[in-house]
Amino acid sequence: MASYYVNKLAQDNGDHEVHKSECSYMPAAGNRLYLGEFSSCHGAVWEARKRYPQVNGCYHCSRECHTS
Ligand SMILES: [Zn+2]
Repeated sequence: MASYYVNKLAQDNGDHEVHKSECSYMPAAGNRLYLGEFSSCHGAVWEARKRYPQVNGCYHCSRECHTS
């Protein structure tokens, strides 16, 4: 299991990116929302979609959930 966070701030394309806790692209503490512990990014993305309509996995830490 890993801790996942979503960026409160959208990217230029409107995506709110989901990150694993150890990602070097993790947003600053004030700009992220803790999602919970998940065995893969898929559960974290599902959780993040309850809060934001447009969510994407981080290319670097959650590539299997990243869509371009
Ligand atoms: Zn990341």
